[in-house]
Amino acid sequence: MSDSDFIEGVNASARNVFAFVFIDPKLLDPRDPHSADNRNYVRGELLSALSDLRTNFPDAEVDRVIDGALSSAPSVERRRLDVPGSVSIDVSTLDSRDKHSQANRDYIRGELNGHISNLGRSMTDQQVDDIIDDALLSSPSGTGRFAIRNLKVNICLVNTQAEHSDSKNELASTASGIRTARLRPVPGTNAIWDRATGEHEGEHGNRDTLTSPTTKLSIISETRGDLQALKWLRDNGHNDVAQALTDYRVLSAVHSRDASHATGVALIGSGVSAVNDDYVKAAEQMRSKILTAVSNEHNLGSERNALRMFEYNPGRFVRTVERALARGEFSGGDASPALETHVRAYIDAFKRQVSGITPPVPSGARASVDLEAGSAPTLTIGGVTAPEFFARIADPDFVPQTVASNDPALSETSVRTPDATVQARTVAVTV
Ligand SMILES: [Zn+2]
Repeated sequence: MSDSDFIEGVNASARNVFAFVFIDPKLLDPRDPHSADNRNYVRGELLSALSDLRTNFPDAEVDRVIDGALSSAPSVERRRLDVPGSVSIDVSTLDSRDKHSQANRDYIRGELNGHISNLGRSMTDQQVDDIIDDALLSSPSGTGRFAIRNLKVNICLVNTQAEHSDSKNELASTASGIRTARLRPVPGTNAIWDRATGEHEGEHGNRDTLTSPTTKLSIISETRGDLQALKWLRDNGHNDVAQALTDYRVLSAVHSRDASHATGVALIGSGVSAVNDDYVKAAEQMRSKILTAVSNEHNLGSERNALRMFEYNPGRFVRTVERALARGEFSGGDASPALETHVRAYIDAFKRQVSGITPPVPSGARASVDLEAGSAPTLTIGGVTAPEFFARIADPDFVPQTVASNDPALSETSVRTPDATVQARTVAVTV
C-alpha cells in the first residue's frame, strides 16, 4: 500500500479499536460509483476486516461507504458495532477485594479474546472494570457464572488518501483553502505530511463520528486532530511543518468556504478550551468581514472581487486588512468580541505563508548611504549590504530574481524601501 505513512499515523493515534477497515479511493471508479466492481471491492474489505462481527453487508450500506470514500478522503469515521453472542466467565476467579486489579482485568480480557480475537485487547480499562463490577454485583457471594452480553466494539472506517490529497502541496492547499502557487514553499517532505495527516485522522477515530455536527463541535473535533498532528510533528523535530499547518488552519477561516476547520487560533492559544461561542462566531465571520473590508476600501463591488485581488495582489490585500483592523472595523456592532484576535492571527499567518508579498522588515533596519568610504558610495540597510538585506526579506520563490535585479535598481536611486520593490514587481497585475 502506497499510503503507509498515513496508515502508520492512523494506527498510532486511534486507540482501543477492534478493527480497521481501509478503503482506498484510488481503487474506486468514480464515474460509476455503485458499480459491481466498486461494491465487490468495498464489500470484500468490510467482510475481511469485520468477519467476526458481521457476515452480511447490504448494497445500500456498501454504497454509503463508497460515497463516503469518494467524497471525503482521507478521513476516519468511528462506529460502534454489536458483538454477536455472549461470553461466560467464572466469577470465583475474580478477586472481590481488589476489583480493578491487573489480574482481574487480564482474566476478563483473556476470556473476551477467547470469544473473538482482539475483543479483550480493544477494550479500555474502564470498559473492563464495568464488566467486573457487573459480574461481582450479579454474584455477591463470588460464585457461579456470569454472562457478558450486549457488547459493543469500536471500529474505524478509514478512507486512505485520494489522488488529490496525497502530496504535501495538495494537503497544504486543502488545509489553507489557497492554491499551492499562492503559498510559499511547503516545508517538510510528503512522508511527513502523510504521517501528520494520519495522526490527525486517527484522532477522529477515538470518538464517535457525528452525522451532522455543529460548527462548534466540528472545530473542537478538528482541533483535537490537529493537536495530535502537531504533537507528532514537534516530537519529531518538524517545527517548521507544525508552524505551517497552524498557519494554514488560520488562513482557512477566510479562504475555504466554511469555518469547520478554523482551528488555527485555538492551536496558537489554549487548544480545545479556546473554542467557545465567541470563537465560533469569529471563525464564522472572518471570511465575510475581511472580504467586505477589502471590497469596500477599493470599491471592488463584491467579496468575489476581493478574492480576485487576493490572487493578483496579495500584498495590497493584506495591507488593506491591516488598515481596516487599525481603524477598528473588526470590533463593535455585530462583530464577535474575539474577531480582532482572529484577524491579527490571520495577518501574521498570511505574511508567513502567502507568496508574492514582502515579509515584515526586521525591526531596527535603517538604510544609510556612506559617501565617505571611498570613491563609490555603499548602501547598507539594517547593518548589511543592500543585496543581502533584500535577499533576507525576499519571498523565497523570488529570491533569484530579486537579488539579480536589485543591483542596477539601487545604482539608479539612492535608497529604495522594500515596499517600493514590491510595488515595482507587482505593478503589472495591480487590481
Ligand atoms: Zn479532521
